Amino acid sequence: MIRLSKSCLSSEEKDAVLGVLDREFLGMGMEVQSFENGLADFFDRPAVCVVNGTAALQLALQAVGVGPGDEVLVPSLTYLASFQAISATGAKAVACDVLAGSLTLDSNDAEKLITSRTKAIMPVHYAGGVTGIDALYKLALKYGLRVIEDAAHAFGTIHNGRKVGGFGDIVCFSFDGIKNITSGEGGCVVTNDTVILEKIRDARLLGVEKDTDKRYSGQRSWQFDVSAQGWRYHMSNIMAAIGIVQLKRFPDFALARQKLASLYDQLLVDELNISALVQDYNYVVPHIYPIQILSKKPRKLIQDTMLEKGIQTGIHYQPNHQLSYYKSNREFPVTDSVAQRLLTLPLHPDVSEEDVRYICATLIDLVNGPPVAA
Ligand SMILES: *Cc1c(COP(=O)(O)O)cnc(C)c1O
Repeated sequence: MIRLSKSCLSSEEKDAVLGVLDREFLGMGMEVQSFENGLADFFDRPAVCVVNGTAALQLALQAVGVGPGDEVLVPSLTYLASFQAISATGAKAVACDVLAGSLTLDSNDAEKLITSRTKAIMPVHYAGGVTGIDALYKLALKYGLRVIEDAAHAFGTIHNGRKVGGFGDIVCFSFDGIKNITSGEGGCVVTNDTVILEKIRDARLLGVEKDTDKRYSGQRSWQFDVSAQGWRYHMSNIMAAIGIVQLKRFPDFALARQKLASLYDQLLVDELNISALVQDYNYVVPHIYPIQILSKKPRKLIQDTMLEKGIQTGIHYQPNHQLSYYKSNREFPVTDSVAQRLLTLPLHPDVSEEDVRYICATLIDLVNGPPVAA
């Protein structure tokens, strides 16, 4: 079976975890501090690690003061986590449409939705791409909005010579099992804003002020003050131990993902019934490889047949504005038309070039094959 996505772990991650187990200090301590230092080197800006990417988004929103009565602009075409992080603060997630070529936030559409209650914009770097990010920062400047980037797909992507996370307002990453690097679960917030960093460092430890410094020196806070709502959202040493090794291995992971995505592009470019994203894989490190099926062949049938042939596929994503909890009566021309045609093909560093050739040949056959009776 060629898996859609998966973790890629070596004996080095396993040894690192065993090391933490042997030391019998599983909570937040030395390993987390060291992972944060590694990330800060990578981004050239400070990073705060938390329990997952959703928590990173929620804490970033909370730190800029987003709460009940506020609105946050977010593309409908994203993982549910982006929406849940916004509603977790009590704010309203306002769904926007995406750009047709990249499926990233359309800032022209976002501008139409700005009200006096709009506090922040959450662009999502769909499949690792950041098309439109400069226009989006212009929009944020014009209306005085904070930007919290959902960069869960874009670890390692380079924009104008700088890494995603190395520029911009507040940038959130996920290290869940299938992302570009993993720490089991996990996530981080990257920003230069020292006030925001301090707030998030406290908020991840139940709001206990300055508890982070104590934990990094192997101590605990027995007497402390709390001045804001906090959460149990810190990262554990077990997770960080995995993350440290994955960060070291990242250059190989990135190259593998970029090569495979380029090969997909090359094998599918002439197909009239298949459309790929417009991405430059010299700079984008893709987390997923989604395509659109332009023929009338039912997607479900394509997925079922591919699975029979040993190929897992996925759908990124069902638009959030179609969910009962986030229902919107607005029209989303691009999102609505694209959503029914999306199909994600396997992409992770252990997919081989031979796999990609087999996947493309199978897909091309199916998509161009005779239409099926309903
Ligand atoms: C993975 C992901 C998240 C959330 O990350 P978790 O670590 O799973 O909580 C948020 N947004 C997007 C687009 C993601 O793919």
